[in-house]
This record gives sequence, structure tokens and C-alpha cells, in this order.
Amino acid sequence: MENSKIEWTNHTANLWWGCCRVHDGCTNCFAAIMANRYGFNLWEKDSPRRMIASVWKDIEKYQKLAAENGEIHRVFIGSMMDIFEKSKPLIDHKFNPLIEGESEFWNTGQLRDKLFNEVIPNSPNLMFLLLSKRPSNINKYIPKSWKSNPPKNVIFGTSPVNQETAEKLIPQLDKVNGFKFLSVEPQLTDIDFTIKMKNGKMLIESVDWIIQGGESGHGRRPFDVEWGRKLRDLCLEKGVPYFFKQIDKKLPITEDLLVRQFAFELIKKVA
Ligand code: SF4
Repeated sequence: MENSKIEWTNHTANLWWGCCRVHDGCTNCFAAIMANRYGFNLWEKDSPRRMIASVWKDIEKYQKLAAENGEIHRVFIGSMMDIFEKSKPLIDHKFNPLIEGESEFWNTGQLRDKLFNEVIPNSPNLMFLLLSKRPSNINKYIPKSWKSNPPKNVIFGTSPVNQETAEKLIPQLDKVNGFKFLSVEPQLTDIDFTIKMKNGKMLIESVDWIIQGGESGHGRRPFDVEWGRKLRDLCLEKGVPYFFKQIDKKLPITEDLLVRQFAFELIKKVA
């Protein structure tokens, strides 16, 4: 998906389609709803995931475009999958199972490895946003060398949606070496990001960038703009770049919440 409609990224790339729900933030997952609408069985814990073979050419195109313009483009991986989900069997676009020995790829772990070992190191003009609701798996699935020497063009992220998920997921993300961000979307309750983790750091002190927003679409749950003001102010105090995405895509964003900072410091480091 070139020129992604997601405001905080330039492009969105999906290696496969399919996942299973993790927490309350997944209730209205658009990718699951779409799969269900088409009658595709891609959202069970053990169902196969549908490979998106065109993704590699797309990423190559994004790299070329960014290099030609002398820019760094953000690439979100991915809106219809979770890159750190445990490896699952693959099917092709016609829903044929991909078989070991007959196909180049037959499980999602192989696609992830290709991204990490071949594509990311060869895409110096792309900043990969690896967003996962399974941050406890990050250190299991990244290449060994990344643990001591994380790539400069990767930022690892997770999505807390309430206090419980913030206190569970952020300490897991904190164990990862490298740049880190939060996508607090869709925020469902007030969250106190000043709570301290076991290592004494506040939750907010774990990350280099924070995106925040409410839910949109049918069945959206309400977002309180005061949650936005609270996190905006805390980010300002702590020097964390802050990006407010949306209230619910119906109500206009109040002027004081129209703050859309990117992790510019990181981008300079990549360049
Ligand atoms: S982790 Fe993401 S892709 Fe997976 S079910 Fe939840 S919202 Fe959907």
C-alpha cells in the first residue's frame, strides 16, 4: 500500500494477511473483519496466513523512491498481520497451501527472516516501524546480532490500549535493544505512563516516540480528549516526540491536540 492512509507512516507493507486477537485493542481489527467478510479463515490461532508475494517489490520501490528524493521514508509493518507472531503455515493468494520442498516459503517465520536478514539491511532510506502486540517475542525472533547492535533503520513498537496492557507490554518492549515507540491506539481508558517498571524507569521513559489516538469506524469506543492532553503534556515534559492521530475520525481534532511530531532525531541518525 503506497502512500499509506495511516498518517504517521509513508508506506504500509504486509508480508502476509492473518493474525489472531491479543487484547481489547483487537476487538474491531479491520483486517480480521475484512477476512471474515470474504469468508477467509485467517484469524484462528492455528489457521494458515495468506502470503502477499508482491510485498518485496513494493519495498524495493519505496527504497528507490526515498533514495531518489534524498529522503528517509517510514514503512509500517504491517496493518494486516503482526510481525512478531509465532510462525504459522502459509497459503498462496489462491488459498493453496505452500508446501515444504515445493515452494520458496511455507511459513511466516521465513518471510520475517527474509525481511530482517535481506531487506532491512539493504534499505538504508527506509525506517521500518515493527509494531507488535507481542513484544515478548521480539528478542526471540530478531537476528542474534541485532541484540547487541540493533539496526539504525528499525524502530520497535507496541500498542497498549489501557492501564493493564501498558503495564504488561511496555516492560516487555523495554527489554529490546534499539529505538522504540508506542502506538497508543485505540486508547480505551485513561493510562498513567508515569508508573514505574521493576527497573525503576517510568513507562514513558522506555520509548523514543509516542503516537496516540482513539478508535474510528463502526462500533468505535469513545476517546476522552483529556487523555490526549495528559499524554501530550507528559511527552513534552519528558522530551518524547508526540503524534496525535485522531479522536475518532468524525470529530475534528481540537486545535491544542494538533501536535504531529516524528522521531526526527532518529531519522537524522539513520541518515
Ligand atoms: S494484533 Fe493487530 S492484526 Fe492482530 S488481531 Fe490485533 S489488531 Fe488485528
